[in-house]
Amino acid sequence: MAEDFFKKDAEFVFQNYTRQPLVLVSGKGSIVWDIDGKEYIDCVAGVAVNNVGHCHPEVVDAIKKQAETLIHTSNLYYTKPQIELAEKLSKVTRMDRFFFCNSGTEAVEGAMKLARRASAKKDFIAAEGSFHGRTMGSLSLTHKERYRKPFEPLIKNVSFVPFNDVDAIKDKITKDTAAVILEPIQVESGGINIPKRDDYLCAVREICDEKDVLLIFDEVQTGFGRIGTWFGKDFFKAMPDIMTMAKALGGGFPIGAIAATDNIACKFEPGDHAATFGGNPLACASAIASINVIESEDLVFRAKDIGAYFMDELSRLSDFETVKDIRGMGLLIGVELSIKGGKIVDYARKRGVLINCISESIIRFVPPLVITKDQIDRVVSCLEVCLGECGA
Ligand code: PLP
Repeated sequence: MAEDFFKKDAEFVFQNYTRQPLVLVSGKGSIVWDIDGKEYIDCVAGVAVNNVGHCHPEVVDAIKKQAETLIHTSNLYYTKPQIELAEKLSKVTRMDRFFFCNSGTEAVEGAMKLARRASAKKDFIAAEGSFHGRTMGSLSLTHKERYRKPFEPLIKNVSFVPFNDVDAIKDKITKDTAAVILEPIQVESGGINIPKRDDYLCAVREICDEKDVLLIFDEVQTGFGRIGTWFGKDFFKAMPDIMTMAKALGGGFPIGAIAATDNIACKFEPGDHAATFGGNPLACASAIASINVIESEDLVFRAKDIGAYFMDELSRLSDFETVKDIRGMGLLIGVELSIKGGKIVDYARKRGVLINCISESIIRFVPPLVITKDQIDRVVSCLEVCLGECGA
């Protein structure tokens, strides 16, 4: 039966994804089921989206209730869920104001516009190894040549500096620099690149203050408890002027947001920026429920705690010759191999574990924050078998 879907996809859907041969039909917590009823432990979690687990009853309930009440209105009117979500986010982010959109890339696009508007300057500094999205503005801030090249010309006013290098940022700043943008931990292109110094982001903050340049943190992947703190900025104790978020914000429902300090947010005037679906009642209701679950189930602490357990268990794998490095924070973990990881991904799937690769040789683990120790044990045992099978 899955074959029918593969065929129809090949006929009707853009072929821009390299999909695994799997039709997923349902999920609960950290488990998903395919169309044949086979069960998988999900260490992909919609790519760091399902932090509260699949189909959390409180999220499902909020979506159901909101769907029966009001699904969409546009931003020509006020809606209760949007305002409530902004208030809630102000508490968990300690930022002042929020603009809602639908995805990570859209949040980054908006952040670029806001930075230009607020600073009246044009240039950006981003890091080598960065990933900020796939639309033209965010792609201009994304370092990877493979993603950029086919779509040039991109925005030219972007300079790249090595991640971790504070002086390089200082040297690159000119009178035209609007903002520096950084992921607190580089994931998608950077391969889980954790700052070498805990004070890196604080040092960048200082330079930005000194030179009157805005600082943007892209927390699309690091947000909502994933790394064991609410956001990356909390672990590194640095505050940005502008922050982007998406992925786990909606508990699985598509929503993104730009957060900004009051003095920056107010630089957007009516007409400067908009999104038809942004902050739609259904998305906001889902996001409020998801944040409530993160709070009530203490998932931020859980990510730290069970993430440490996961790292400990994974350390067994370093006996394999092909395992070069195991790194991560909370439940954002990567295992770097000296071989291509595709085969391991395939073997693991056949054994009931879903993982994926960032770059060819780094396996990423971003399971729901509700994953249990027992499930982690099964994942690690599965990996041991797979690495063994791959002749490692
Ligand atoms: N920024 C970061 C740090 C990301 O990791 C991603 C996606 O992986 C994006 C932006 C783009 O988000 P989206 O895929 O929702 O557009």
